[in-house]
Amino acid sequence: MGSVQLVTTILAAAITALAVWLAVQAVLRIVAVVRLGQPDPGRFGDPVTRTRTMLAETAGHTRMLRWSVVGAAHWFVMVAFVVLSLLVLEAYFEVVSPTGGLPLIGGWTVYGLVTELIAIFGVVGIVVLIAIRIRNRPSRPGGRSRFTGSTMWQGYFVEAVVLAVLIMGFLIRGFKVATDHFEYPTWATPVSHAVGALLPNWEAGVSVAALIKIMISMTWLIVIALNVTMGVAWHRFLAFFNIFFKRDPGRAGSGLGALRPMTSNGKPLDFEEADPESDQFGVAQVEQFTWKGLLDFSTCTECGRCQSQCPAWNTGKPLSPKLLVLSLRDHAYAKAPYLLAGGGKDLTGEEKATAAQLAHVDVLALAEAEKPLIGGAEEGGVIDPDVLWSCTTCGACVEQCPVDIEHVDHIVDMRRYQVLIESSFPSEAGVMLRNLENKGNPWGAPQNTREDWTKGLDFEVPRVGEAEDFEYLFWVGCAGAFEDRAKKTTRAVATLLHEAGVSFAILGEGETCTGDPARRIGNEFVFQMLAQQNVETLNEAFDGREKSKRKIVATCPHCFNTLGNEYGQLGGEFEVVHHTQLLAHLVATGKLTPVQPVDGGVTYHDPCYLGRHNRVFAPPREVLGSAASEGITEMPRNSERSFCCGAGGARMWMEEKIGKRINVDRVEEAMSTGAKTIAVGCPFCSTMLNDGVNGKGAGEQVEVVDVASVLLRSVRPEQNRDGQQAEPVAG
Ligand code: SF4
Ligand code: SF4
Repeated sequence: MGSVQLVTTILAAAITALAVWLAVQAVLRIVAVVRLGQPDPGRFGDPVTRTRTMLAETAGHTRMLRWSVVGAAHWFVMVAFVVLSLLVLEAYFEVVSPTGGLPLIGGWTVYGLVTELIAIFGVVGIVVLIAIRIRNRPSRPGGRSRFTGSTMWQGYFVEAVVLAVLIMGFLIRGFKVATDHFEYPTWATPVSHAVGALLPNWEAGVSVAALIKIMISMTWLIVIALNVTMGVAWHRFLAFFNIFFKRDPGRAGSGLGALRPMTSNGKPLDFEEADPESDQFGVAQVEQFTWKGLLDFSTCTECGRCQSQCPAWNTGKPLSPKLLVLSLRDHAYAKAPYLLAGGGKDLTGEEKATAAQLAHVDVLALAEAEKPLIGGAEEGGVIDPDVLWSCTTCGACVEQCPVDIEHVDHIVDMRRYQVLIESSFPSEAGVMLRNLENKGNPWGAPQNTREDWTKGLDFEVPRVGEAEDFEYLFWVGCAGAFEDRAKKTTRAVATLLHEAGVSFAILGEGETCTGDPARRIGNEFVFQMLAQQNVETLNEAFDGREKSKRKIVATCPHCFNTLGNEYGQLGGEFEVVHHTQLLAHLVATGKLTPVQPVDGGVTYHDPCYLGRHNRVFAPPREVLGSAASEGITEMPRNSERSFCCGAGGARMWMEEKIGKRINVDRVEEAMSTGAKTIAVGCPFCSTMLNDGVNGKGAGEQVEVVDVASVLLRSVRPEQNRDGQQAEPVAG
């Protein structure tokens, strides 16, 4: 070993020892913080599916590739990071000897070729990512960036390190070429040979370049070890675990659809026995999230994909799902020293730790612990109430997140505490909750008017119990029964089912709200009350039938979601379809035949709880495609990337006081297609978009109408717009 190699070896060993020691401390700290969370036993089942999904999402970049250029660039960088770790390892042999290399595979042409190619694509990929970050930097003139609120220096630092390490790899190989110590042929390593042609024949160059590469890599490790909240770097390790432990790993759109049940100490809460003094009601302290929640917060890469799709953020509300996650992460890590010392409040609000336990806790951690989780700026709150209540639970954030963070569950968990314990929520929603409790529907309409929509139809609508047999139970929903526009959809669906010869029956006055708005606002108690009643009614209606024959068709995607995805949590197992799915099937099988094309252009707005939450994208389009003369003109934001109407998450029952109205934003997009018909598949979307169209004074030019009504006009051109005969049948 020459004197240069002696120095490079000592320096490489010293910085590596320091970096590894700090990294181990950092990993222990992250694990300790995540372990502060509540139990979540459901995260360990079906390890085979979990492993398969994790590998598909990481190796295949199935989520990120939807953003094709970014996804492809990131894929190459990820592969480069994993494979070229071998080259960092190789550098340790090269600091010792300029002819050093990896044992066994070093010198193998295939290894030389593969690493060369990956390094070339890695350089291209990281340059693309840097260019994208610079182009979308928050400080650029005009527009909001998805990186707004991200810690930009960390992103640039990580990207610069990756680029520098890749370049140093070529320099090491170049010096080997220049000193004639390189084993690989030119055809397999063309860039390395080209670099070598430019370098001097300096024997020590290999070891010096290898030392620089190690120092850059270890500096990166030291920096991230000292910044455990640096998600842009830590996600490289944490993302595997976060994806592995996501809920419903086998389901497309996991983290969407059903909400997680309310749990205390890892067990679903039973309201008949629950006690607020011993059971946790929602989340009031950051450590009351489950450990998976804390892992979610730790894993956020700060990429801002969620933010760029969020309807609240895009219309000037204070909510950004990314900033919400970052606030919770920073708060959790800042509060952690206090919690790890034994601190924390019990469920009655009493401090658990003794003064001696807290004596050595940093004052900043003690101050952080005093912050309310939900509170305005004046109280030093971590999450502002306006942030919490701006969410429509549309799921765009969950859909977009490349590391499967479950934002909606966390938001609703925080709402649950605010509603159930603090009674603190937008006051206008109180009327809706009272109506649900007292009348079983959010409008407070009398129960005996639930069947009024059947008046004027030219056929009898049978009730369960009266009908001899029925294939589908037609779940009308509160909007479908009480809201004038939605009643037209209900009539249209009933007419089409009747026309197609589908046997169906309704519950009539036996139906109550599914509880969706109560659950999404956080009132799990009212949800459970309504849901248990409905499950009982439905189980009775389907008595003796196996699950595949317990078929329900619903026109409201919120009912569809709750009945199909959430009632199972309470013992109600049903086969639920949305009316657009059933209608598409009836058209495809020739039971319904559109005869008159609908003119003037049609665009389709995907309801969040039908599309993103339940992956029903094609059937409504198939129905419209069969009925519209020109097919569908898609809006720029459609299908998985559809933009919310603003009504979900019980926002239908709250005033929208901040920023631009979400429904107006969506209507402008719909109208930009030039279509005269905006088709919807949800009564709430219908209301919101109708309001938006009317607010723009375009009610005469553009019509918002349900997919079923569009089909009915094509199947029965003589039908008027109310889904009734042009000449109503008398008596
Ligand atoms: S669910 Fe929708 S509104 Fe709520 S934070 Fe996510 S993207 Fe924003
Ligand atoms: S999409 Fe996911 S990883 Fe990216 S900023 Fe949002 S929460 Fe973080």
